[in-house]
Amino acid sequence: MINKKINELIAYAKAHLHLGVDDDYYAANRLLYLLKLTTFTKEEVDEDLDFFEIMEYILNYACGKNLLESDTVTSRDAFEGKIVDCLLPRPSELTNLFRQEYKKGPLTATNFFHDLSIASNYIKTKRIEKNIKYDYAGKYAALEITINLSKPEKDPKDILAQSLIKDNYPTCPLCMENVGVYQATSLAPRSNHRVISLTLNHEVDAWGMQYSPYAYFPEHTIVLRKDHSPMYVNELSFAELVDFINKFPHYLIGSNAGLPIVGGSILGHHHFQGGRYDFPIEKARVLQKYKANRKVTVEVLDWPMAVIRVSSDNENALLDEVNKIYEAWYNYENKDISIFKHTDQDHNTVTPILKLNGAQYQFYIVLRNNYATEDQPYGWYHPRKERFHIKKENIGLIEVMGLAILPGRLVEELDLIKDCLINNKDPKEFPELEKHLPWIEELKEKNISQDELSETLRQEVGHIFEQVLEDCNVFKYGSKEDLYRFVEKII
Ligand SMILES: [Zn+2]
Repeated sequence: MINKKINELIAYAKAHLHLGVDDDYYAANRLLYLLKLTTFTKEEVDEDLDFFEIMEYILNYACGKNLLESDTVTSRDAFEGKIVDCLLPRPSELTNLFRQEYKKGPLTATNFFHDLSIASNYIKTKRIEKNIKYDYAGKYAALEITINLSKPEKDPKDILAQSLIKDNYPTCPLCMENVGVYQATSLAPRSNHRVISLTLNHEVDAWGMQYSPYAYFPEHTIVLRKDHSPMYVNELSFAELVDFINKFPHYLIGSNAGLPIVGGSILGHHHFQGGRYDFPIEKARVLQKYKANRKVTVEVLDWPMAVIRVSSDNENALLDEVNKIYEAWYNYENKDISIFKHTDQDHNTVTPILKLNGAQYQFYIVLRNNYATEDQPYGWYHPRKERFHIKKENIGLIEVMGLAILPGRLVEELDLIKDCLINNKDPKEFPELEKHLPWIEELKEKNISQDELSETLRQEVGHIFEQVLEDCNVFKYGSKEDLYRFVEKII
């Protein structure tokens, strides 16, 4: 039976993973080594092949033969990555294939790479489907709420095994060192990891592009520098974003701020995030519209955070205006409304996001500040403590655009809260509800009917997310007029 499954896997790889016509014995022999087998016979197989069914059989076989470090999801994922690696093109072959497809058009090229990443189960489509998604009709726009259930919880066995690893290799999760590395205890399998080589802003092959295994939105892409160097947000990165959009005009691209608290989770490695999706921020109403010059429009958007949108069909005029706004914000200080640009370090930065709208480039410049004090160690423009029970983490570009990524623990906690409210149970008896206690008291006072409870709780979570974004508004201690004055001084 295992021989048949190897045949099926090879047939699948020829159909979906670009395994070459002459590569079947080569791939089969690599699989034999991995599965500690010694012979392979070619067999006829059905054309209708299911990757997950074949892989489950092979992983169960490998488990039964004690070929895995342990029978945990993480270990199985890592071994699956190793199996798929026997069938996939090498990284440079894949870049060449991508470039051939790119000659037909950028959309053809990204479709090619994205389809491959799904077919190889590098993008964990089945797990992503488990995420809970709904809209919250907020006062600014319909915000999108995602409760993240796709990433498997780590087994204590994996955590222990990982703690024993002393090598600092790969240096970080974005480094090129990850391509093909076998880590049975890392969060995502890497043997089947592939990064397409890119040239951005005249730096030939200095960049890479990959998809996110646990995509938060369609075609969630990571664009990274190949060298491990820290995040930066400045004139240079804005030009890099524009060049990416010139090369992939059907994608959106953005960068997290390069400072702690207001930045992303990986500040040590310069990267962008993009994808093919329309985010809620794009539907924001316009509060003020200015003509910076004949070619450039500047708008202040009605959004919970301070957002300036710069639009132009001219790349250079666009970049000039964006650079001006960035410089002005970097040097902006207004102690009357608690905006401090510098104490022991610089505090002002931006979250930049770029998308094409027809022929117009649209740059969303979200003003950020990471000023923190002893009484507010997480920063003045970070989710407030009373909202940590829903969202504690940094607010990065995805959330800035109106898509919340909330922790999976919320599903069970919300069910438990419902149970307490319906059946008059004391929430204090459940340690996991401790952080929600003040909120539960508020909910009790609302006397929500049993029928409406599930939906009301979802909407309440959405409302708290909207407040979380408002917490990050750098002009929240002032007024919209302060923001208008800031913009009007620049243009
Ligand atoms: Zn790195």
